[in-house]
Amino acid sequence: MLSDADLLDTPLEDLTALARAVRDGAHGRRVTFSPKVFIPLTMLCRDRCGYCTFAKAPARLGSPYLTPEEVLAVARAGREAGCHEALFTLGERPELRYPVARDWLAAHGHASTVDYLVEMCRLVLEETGLLPHANAGALFPDELARLRAVSASQGTMIESLAEGLAAHRGAPDKDPARRLATLEAAGELAIPFTTGILVGIGDDRPGQLAALRAIAASHTRHGHVQEVIVQNFLPKPGTAMARAEPCPPEDLQWAIAAARLVLPREVHVQAPPNLSDDLVPLLDAGIDDWGGVSPVTADHVNPERAWPALDVLREATEAAGHTLAPRLTVYPSFVLDPERWLDPALRFGVLDASDAEGLARDATWCSGGGEPPPLLLGGPAVPGHVPHGGGAVAEVLAGVGLGQEVGAAEIVTLFSARGPEVRLVAEVADDLRRQAVGDAVTFVRNRNINYTNVCTFKCRFCAFSKGPLSLNLRGAPYLLELDEITRRVAEAEAEGATEVCLQGGIHPSFDGDYYLHVLEAVREASTAIHIHGFTALEVTEGARRSEVPLAEYLTRLKEAGLKTLPGTAAEILDDDVRAILCPDKISTDEWLEAHRTAHSVGLRSNITIMFGSVEQPHSWARHMVVTRALQRETGGFTEFVPLPFVHMATPLYLQRKARRGPTFRETLLMHAVARIAYAGDIDNIQASWVKMGAEGARQVLQAGVNDLGGTLMDENISRAAGAQHGQRMGVEELEAIVAPLGRPLVQRSTLYALAGASPGA
Ligand code: SF4
Repeated sequence: MLSDADLLDTPLEDLTALARAVRDGAHGRRVTFSPKVFIPLTMLCRDRCGYCTFAKAPARLGSPYLTPEEVLAVARAGREAGCHEALFTLGERPELRYPVARDWLAAHGHASTVDYLVEMCRLVLEETGLLPHANAGALFPDELARLRAVSASQGTMIESLAEGLAAHRGAPDKDPARRLATLEAAGELAIPFTTGILVGIGDDRPGQLAALRAIAASHTRHGHVQEVIVQNFLPKPGTAMARAEPCPPEDLQWAIAAARLVLPREVHVQAPPNLSDDLVPLLDAGIDDWGGVSPVTADHVNPERAWPALDVLREATEAAGHTLAPRLTVYPSFVLDPERWLDPALRFGVLDASDAEGLARDATWCSGGGEPPPLLLGGPAVPGHVPHGGGAVAEVLAGVGLGQEVGAAEIVTLFSARGPEVRLVAEVADDLRRQAVGDAVTFVRNRNINYTNVCTFKCRFCAFSKGPLSLNLRGAPYLLELDEITRRVAEAEAEGATEVCLQGGIHPSFDGDYYLHVLEAVREASTAIHIHGFTALEVTEGARRSEVPLAEYLTRLKEAGLKTLPGTAAEILDDDVRAILCPDKISTDEWLEAHRTAHSVGLRSNITIMFGSVEQPHSWARHMVVTRALQRETGGFTEFVPLPFVHMATPLYLQRKARRGPTFRETLLMHAVARIAYAGDIDNIQASWVKMGAEGARQVLQAGVNDLGGTLMDENISRAAGAQHGQRMGVEELEAIVAPLGRPLVQRSTLYALAGASPGA
């Protein structure tokens, strides 16, 4: 840790280099911003700060406060524009200065401005789902506590601890002790908190260091400071400080670098992008956040300085070798620890808006939904969007280029790719795809037969099964007669299917022989059709109910015609996650053992992953690493099939305990990273058109995917969860997905024997 003397004596260039290194070590090359709307609840204020144009006299305002309708109108516009944050900014306790404020509050049934703020935060949260951030100045603990119940985060600028600054003359709430007490109380109440310093209002550098050290000390006690804003003073006409000098850019750079070096590594450092003409020096000084950026509302505190358009911000950020990522008003480490940091009323709203890393969802697309995915690939390459200066993702890709294996840590790094990095990961994956299997896009003609939807298990992500705990009774419980299975197989074969895919719930009446009877029913209709069926759970249960070892049971199934096992029931092969998703299902080791045993008796199988509900990327990495190890042991896996979580009708989502599936960026990366992680071990990466639709499938085909799976007459499981992409896909429709890519569509067998060019090719 550098002393104050070191910080004051080190040349600026060296100081910023040190700050950059700390920033890169702690937060990498990613720079975040919060898409927000700005809600100026009241522009009246009892304080008279010398630099402020936000506060107005009552005569200059049509109404002392925004009405609830006005507040909601702004919030709804923000929701429409893809914002996640509603930033409430307001003057401090205007009712203590202006009768008109007191009267308005009384007439509307509120005792104070903070009372009204609590109500408006609640209204916005409940009506729009935007996450309120309350920026209400110096508050008392009871006020902070009431706001905590309706806002995801709060903030108060320390500005400066210097006593007697002219800028703060006439501003009782800018008393340093009051600001520090607010910061401390927020820590005691476990409120994710934003604070900061205002550079250039008369404080000297030692004074700025004192403020930063006080913030650091409070954070060390409570862990609650999520970000520190380093804001530069700009004089504004009509204010007491209109003729003061603006904060020189080098002073801002020094303060940013000092903040980065004084504050604990996990605290984010922010500089507003609209208050500087050149953004590069801010990045060079060590920031990793741009703060709230609104596509809808002006910066009401600095109305003369418009926010840069997001495209401009992205381009400037990427041109400087960084990536840009949207975040919520709460930062990821707080999002991922909701019991500690969030009131129960906020937890689902935060979860629902977040991605697997705890950052903000970057588009409204969700798997199974009708909305087309954002175009991450397949559009024109944007000049200037090629990252330079390396970064962790580029380093891992360089290693891949040298033939190095990616371990769990590297896989997690690849999942962190944003912006142009996503395109780079996809390109590397697609090169590996080309080398492994060429350009053919394969598919199998198959039919799903889900013989029963009754299940004794209680998987909390499953909308398909009808058990005693089913929350959603789409469709009635059923158990197909064996004759019906025979009929469906015959029908499928007559339509050209080469495979039947058999999966179902674990019906309480099933014994181990049931699965043998199903195989007999299939064979009665066809001796040729490939039988792909029975998950690791089903065969494990079948063996248990038959009271025979698994190898013996699987051998019986094989002799009765079974050829391959689907990888479903894998969900996420990480027992911490399985404890949430499917606590009574087989464990990771049991899933692996079922497939190891299947391979040992001559059956083959595939690997699935159901991702995007409650888990983080480190669990995806574990899944890939353990299945890759098994593949190296047995060689029995034919393909990897990512299954994005379709959230709509699942018990876990309806209980408000899961995210709304992966984002499309995560979905695309799952395919691309899998191609990289399994390179040399598993040649086939499949896209599930049921879950991501034709547009999504076309994009992942450019990210390492070579297979579109089955035509799936009678897809039921994703549809039960709310997927809207249909129950079957004709060859013409598959052709329509593939044709724009200029790649041939080729029918395959289950085991990837190719049948030649497709009829439509
Ligand atoms: S996922 Fe399978 S085992 Fe779990 S409840 Fe659904 S049907 Fe039953």
